[in-house]
Amino acid sequence: MKTEKVGLIYTEDYQKYNFGDSHPLRPLRLSLTYSLMNKIGLFNNKKLEILHPKPCTNKELELVHTPDYIDAVSKLSTNPQDNSVNPSEYGLGPGDNPIFKGMFEASSLVCGASIMVADMVWNDNKCNVAFNPAGGLHHAIENRASGFCIFNDIAVALRYLKTLKKDIKIAYLDIDCHHGDGVQWIFYEDPNVLTISIHESGQFLFPGTGDLDEIGEEDGTGYSINFPLIPGTNNKLYLKLFKECIPKILDSYQPDILATQLGVDTHFSDPLTQMGNSIELYKNLAKEIDEYAQKYCNNKWLAFGGGGYSMTVVPRAWTLFLAQMLDVELPNELPETWITEVKKIVKDEKAPKELWDLDSQMDNQLFKNTIDAENMENYIDTLIELCHEKFLPYLTRK
Ligand SMILES: [Zn+2]
Repeated sequence: MKTEKVGLIYTEDYQKYNFGDSHPLRPLRLSLTYSLMNKIGLFNNKKLEILHPKPCTNKELELVHTPDYIDAVSKLSTNPQDNSVNPSEYGLGPGDNPIFKGMFEASSLVCGASIMVADMVWNDNKCNVAFNPAGGLHHAIENRASGFCIFNDIAVALRYLKTLKKDIKIAYLDIDCHHGDGVQWIFYEDPNVLTISIHESGQFLFPGTGDLDEIGEEDGTGYSINFPLIPGTNNKLYLKLFKECIPKILDSYQPDILATQLGVDTHFSDPLTQMGNSIELYKNLAKEIDEYAQKYCNNKWLAFGGGGYSMTVVPRAWTLFLAQMLDVELPNELPETWITEVKKIVKDEKAPKELWDLDSQMDNQLFKNTIDAENMENYIDTLIELCHEKFLPYLTRK
């Protein structure tokens, strides 16, 4: 039996995690996602349980973050002009992580939602997968905000799991276009949290880390795995790497549970990145991850959102993920009502016509002539070889 219940954690209050109108992380992407999931009919599915999150407690934040940092965020959240705090010391301020009133509550809510995901899947036997689309704030570290992430909801949820079962083995898979640095560093010496990140190489993109030689330290040596990709990598090569490496890694590690960060900023149209994938990739990845969770991860899957800065890509990609979780095959036609909504609200993007197909044709046209296909394939083959010869032996060694 695959799954009886699928959890979706959602609230209108996610809109309050808002750095302002000129910031690329627009909460609109979440409301448009929720709207598409609804209009395409997924909310009629009997397996789906939609729950509202509650903010996590300070004690739960302290599973990861320093009291000093939590206090600083809290003070600036109440009074952004508070002179007793130096924001830049904590990665806060103009640029990526501008201070906004209520940011403490908005960030704690995202963490609470991710803890709820962990609870639903680990404690409630009826639920094999739960999804917090507002989560996935993978760049924040213990005492610092980074890359639009104030608190690291993923790390908080994983540490929370460790309070429920001390020796739990967690496999964390991060498909965001940016390296999953925060989660990696937080668990860098921990062999019970295996972090795997597939991302655009740090040579070209924030945060600049995620190189092949970042493999963990001390007891955690071998339990951090990175696949830095060349800009322009497309569906076919991405999927080849994924299928030849990820199941073998999971099979070798034998985790109790899988956690995924499902950033969809590897899409070719994403305004912040330079990759060559289309939405069809996410349809395929959803299918693969769902299968791996069942086969290698005890049929327990925690799904968190992540990056994605095109307002028309994120809703379609995450709707495909939810459909896969529910075992539903969606038609390629988008609901007219959703298209109308997009036309009305999203002024800087063309409204899409289809869920995935048209987009994949565009992908082929765009990238056929610009990339040195042979070099790209050779590089992917090198990564696969490295995974089999260097990364896997750490995991099978007892
Ligand atoms: Zn990202």
